Amino acid sequence: MNIQQELLSILKDYQDFPKPGIVFKDICPLLANPSAFKRVLRHLAEHAGDCSATHIVGMESRGFLFGIPLATELGLPFIPARKSGKLPGEVLKQSYALEYGIDHVEIQKESVQSGARYLVIDDVIATGGTAGAVARLIQSNGGNLAGFSFVIELGFLNGRKALNEIAPQAGIYSLLNL
Ligand code: AMP
Repeated sequence: MNIQQELLSILKDYQDFPKPGIVFKDICPLLANPSAFKRVLRHLAEHAGDCSATHIVGMESRGFLFGIPLATELGLPFIPARKSGKLPGEVLKQSYALEYGIDHVEIQKESVQSGARYLVIDDVIATGGTAGAVARLIQSNGGNLAGFSFVIELGFLNGRKALNEIAPQAGIYSLLNL
């Protein structure tokens, strides 16, 4: 079984969550399966190496679940991108549209250094609004986008196109494109 088939057999869909019309992709069964989770991390690590990332940026909150073990495994710094008002000190802030709603994302200014190469990671890419906002934050302080990694890509929502417009040089990697 390849990683795509394995993910299809493990991940669970919830219809109409968190609101009508949304099919929510639940990664909890993957977190509960350590051998499959390890294989997912191995694939993500390969991509992080291929794009010469120097830093891993994970989005609150499910991006942390993949980004922190990945960064630890690779010996790279992990940087959290969080919802408004959660991070202390000087922060960079950007608003964005979700598949369901509007929100803001923040990152600590001191964690973005010019010349460094940031890989942005999350569990799911839908419209690309969240990852795109994080990319803009990194660019606004002189950081480079090394790439984007996702476990699941909802291809029909065209998030890839949105990210290509923001950071055309950054590769976009997803393990499972639906
Ligand atoms: P977007 O900004 O539209 O690309 O949405 C991506 C963010 O929303 C990620 O942080 C995902 O965790 C979450 N998300 C969006 N759509 C879904 C979905 N159908 N199932 C699970 N998570 C989702």
